[in-house]
Amino acid sequence: MSAPISDVAGTAFNRRALADFRSLAGRIDGNGPRYTSYPTADRFHNEVGDGGYQTALQACRADSPAPLSLYLHIPFCENICYYCGCNKIITKDHSRSAQYVDYLSREMAMVAGRLGERRGVMQSHWGGGTPTFLDPDEMRRVMAALHEHFVLLPEGEHSIEIDPRRVTDARMDLLAELGFNRISLGVQDFDPEVQEAVHRVQSYEETRAVVLAARRLGFQSVSVDLIYGLPHQTTARFGKTIEKVLELRPNRLSVYSYAHLPHVFKPQRRIDAATLPPAAEKLDILVSTIERLTAAGYVYIGMDHFALPEDDLAVAQREGRLQRNFQGYATHAGYDQVGLGVSAIGAVAGHYVQNARATDEYYAAIDVGRLPVVRGFEMSADDHMRKAIIGALMCNGTLDLAEVEKTYGIDFAATFAAELADLDKLAVDNLVRRTPARIDITELGRLLVRRVAMVFDRYLRDDATRPQPAPNTANDAKVIPLVRYSRVV
Ligand code: SF4
Repeated sequence: MSAPISDVAGTAFNRRALADFRSLAGRIDGNGPRYTSYPTADRFHNEVGDGGYQTALQACRADSPAPLSLYLHIPFCENICYYCGCNKIITKDHSRSAQYVDYLSREMAMVAGRLGERRGVMQSHWGGGTPTFLDPDEMRRVMAALHEHFVLLPEGEHSIEIDPRRVTDARMDLLAELGFNRISLGVQDFDPEVQEAVHRVQSYEETRAVVLAARRLGFQSVSVDLIYGLPHQTTARFGKTIEKVLELRPNRLSVYSYAHLPHVFKPQRRIDAATLPPAAEKLDILVSTIERLTAAGYVYIGMDHFALPEDDLAVAQREGRLQRNFQGYATHAGYDQVGLGVSAIGAVAGHYVQNARATDEYYAAIDVGRLPVVRGFEMSADDHMRKAIIGALMCNGTLDLAEVEKTYGIDFAATFAAELADLDKLAVDNLVRRTPARIDITELGRLLVRRVAMVFDRYLRDDATRPQPAPNTANDAKVIPLVRYSRVV
């Protein structure tokens, strides 16, 4: 649907755009849905359950042998991080994970049974929680169940989230032996005062040890997560964390904005709001981080994500192949995504489905032979078209209108008259450029791309014309925080 971003990728970010962003950010709200799905997860409803998922799986089976993408949610953590918005269970009782592994394997068998024999998997990701909460035997059992029901393609991306505080060299050896070829590490900030305030004390040395082990073992990619906007952070302090991270030279970096929503996420009540950086300082941290990372050679992929120029994400963006899925940006998108485990979201044959959030409910469904889906959404033809438009704008920064017209059999100007009028307002602020043939996101617009994407969100438009409050990012956050890319809003 689009030509790739090629003129700006791989270069230091334009200083003028960053200066404009700084002055615009107060007036144009850059917050909004992350569009890891469209429609967004706050639109899911409980009329899609086991029956809807069965229908979707049957349709997917008919599409066989297309490869799949798998997400496995392991919800356990030994300690709470106060900023956390994930669906997790804090416990030191490791017997709980043994039971969970049994049910996860049973869910896998139920889903795989409906999909047909051993479908190929191009992309798999274990998230949480802390997947390495599982002991080595439990990890082997989950991997054995995966191999029993699916074929993990050797050329695919197989990744796992790691808590560097809990991973030894022996565990890294096991991850390599099990076939993982990518890891992602939560870091957030190396500053000791920040770490104390968020209850996540993690030394640079233990993080470095994991990165070195990953290199030694030949993992293809190391990804690091950081969060800005945490207590006691300043531009200078966060800059020191960035310098340390740059020494590790991860292939990918995610720099998320912390959203303080203690009414939504209980652990955040342990964070003293008075210690959070003011909005202007938080903005400075972001701008300075973009400057430092792009000056150090990282490509700004968009929406908090950076990658080295030779990384698959950056290559896919240059080639116009980048897409969005529940894990943020993806090189292997377009596949049906199967979610396994509590609260996991899947996207199968035009249906979104989400599993029960609580283990009791999840176990009870599986015990009676029912897929543990509690909510979801069946996409319409209009949803598919808007999803493709939003994806093209967010991933590749450009939209070929004739291509949309040809693919969906519409007259773009007539179908999207209201949207084009709204885009023209954003064009005044230089977020987009519009010609009769294309919509292009400017470099400034890439920093506020959610705002541009929201123009094409039919549900937000409908809300705006109804006498009721529009959904906000807090609402979005309430249902999405189950994959690593949604730890913060
Ligand atoms: S941030 Fe990660 S390790 Fe910390 S509580 Fe949340 S899921 Fe667990």
